[in-house]
Amino acid sequence: MRAFDDLYAANAKFAKEFENFTLTGRAARGLAVVTCMDSRIDPLGLLGLKPGDAKILRNAGARVTDDVLRTLVLAVYLLGVDRVLVMPHTDCGMSKVTDPDVHALTSEQGVDTRSLEFHTVPDQDEALRHDLMRIRSTPFLPKDLPVTGAIYDVHTGLLTPAPRQASDAA
Ligand SMILES: [Zn+2]
Repeated sequence: MRAFDDLYAANAKFAKEFENFTLTGRAARGLAVVTCMDSRIDPLGLLGLKPGDAKILRNAGARVTDDVLRTLVLAVYLLGVDRVLVMPHTDCGMSKVTDPDVHALTSEQGVDTRSLEFHTVPDQDEALRHDLMRIRSTPFLPKDLPVTGAIYDVHTGLLTPAPRQASDAA
């Protein structure tokens, strides 16, 4: 367990001052955020949120995959989510490679990843439009669920809202 010793030591300190024991699993601010795994993104901090406020769904590229949709359905019907923000970011590694690039890189390490779809992002605006449409068009979520997209700038900390679509909720 040596590789994780630092984490257990930090957690022991954290638990001594732990005060969030009254929180429930419902999203207190009714928000779900779909964002990237990029280690520069602090979803709670950049949105003025604290633990308990929001459901944070992260993957490579902030893509709306089948698993993200599955999780949003649970978040909406069981866990108090009533609005969804899809938040990709500038300088995203997923916009710098293609799926064939990734397969080639892993192949150099002797691993065949061709059965995996990486959902790389050749055009970030287009990918965001597509992902927002996936949420808006799924039959499993309420038609009037407010859904929006914004790009987080990892160099300025600013969010830029995606161009509004005709189907955006007010
Ligand atoms: Zn990213």
